[in-house]
Parts: sequence; C-alpha cells; structure tokens
Amino acid sequence: MARYTDSVCRLCRREGVKLFLKATRCETAKCAIEKRAYLPGQHGQGRKKFSEYGVQLREKQKVKRFYGLLEKQFRIYFAAADKQKGVTGENLLQKLESRLDNVVYRMGLGESRSAARQLIGHNHFLVNGKRVNIPSYIVKKGDVISPNQRKADKAPIKKALERVKEKTLPHWLSFDLESKQGLVQSLPTREDVSLPIEEQLIVELYSR
Ligand code: SF4
Repeated sequence: MARYTDSVCRLCRREGVKLFLKATRCETAKCAIEKRAYLPGQHGQGRKKFSEYGVQLREKQKVKRFYGLLEKQFRIYFAAADKQKGVTGENLLQKLESRLDNVVYRMGLGESRSAARQLIGHNHFLVNGKRVNIPSYIVKKGDVISPNQRKADKAPIKKALERVKEKTLPHWLSFDLESKQGLVQSLPTREDVSLPIEEQLIVELYSR
C-alpha cells in the first residue's frame, strides 16, 4: 500500500493548520507550525493565493491528512456519505470521526491517530470483548473498547492507560480506569470534529 514517508510536519505546514500528527511534540514550541508558519518548500513564503479549485482541494487534503487516509479510501467514505440520508459533508465527518483509530486516539489510548492505528493492527484492543484489528472499523453507540488482556503487561498498553488518566475526553466518549473499559456514549456530531473545516467545499470539489 502507498505510504507517505516524508516529514508529517510538512503536511501541517502545507495546510496551514495543526493536524496533530506527531503526538506530544504537537503541543510544544517545537511544533513546525509554531516555528515556520508558512508553506513548505523553496518558494513557500511567497505563495499565498489559491484558485477556487485550489481552496476546495486544500480543504479535502486537510481532512484526509488529519485522519491519515489515502485518496482512494477518502473517496470511498465520501461515496458512502453521499448515499446516506442527511447532509453529505456532515455524514462524511461523522464517519471519519467514528473510525476505531480515531476513537482510540480520542480516548488517549494512542498518542496519535497513526500510533493508534498501529496498536489496533497489532491486536492491542477489543471491541465488545472481541479482537478487532481493523483501524477503519466504525464504532457504534454503546460499543465498549478495552485493551486486550493478553497484552496487558506490554509497554504500549501500560503507557496507554497512563495517558488516559491525563486525557480530557470528548462528551461522546468515556473511560473507566478501574474496569479499563472505554464506552462510546453516543455517536460524534459535526460539532465534535475539532479541526476547522468547511466540509461544503469538499462536497463541491467532488461534485465538479
Ligand atoms: Fe503538525 Fe504536530 Fe508537526 Fe506541529 S508538531 S507541525 S501539529 S505534526
């Protein structure tokens, strides 16, 4: 599968917004957006204007990169959101926010979405007591997410549980430290997406 291997901070600088792709570094003064708030590349400080198409494209890229998806995956989400009843842009964001890797990250069990994806792929989590190693699994209201007890003594899980203690969870998720279980209390809504996005621009882009 195609993989982006260059510096992920370039992606944030390209989109002009913090995409939180690098765990704790993103919260510090070392963040590349804090230090160099202009486009990457030799002419980055000169380029500023985008065409209408360019603005729509950047909005799509921003969301795609925030959730760590490839173009083909993103198009599949868009097609599904478009078929669904309701507002396409909002359906799209709700689907992306409900991915298991995002939920694990939001609960604090993963340092970043990509770290969460890796942990899920290595069978570190159970959903409703069953092993799920698919990061794109879409959670439902009432789903219970817990660390795989067979891996409980491994460092990633120990660190994850330490992190949860510090984490402020969004209202639609909760985590009980005693039972070591996270709960999807409700599905996320448009307001729960923390990234500043004009999703209508993505709909316009794909409607061209
Ligand atoms: Fe983006 Fe984090 Fe890098 Fe800052 S440190 S530019 S938020 S990935």
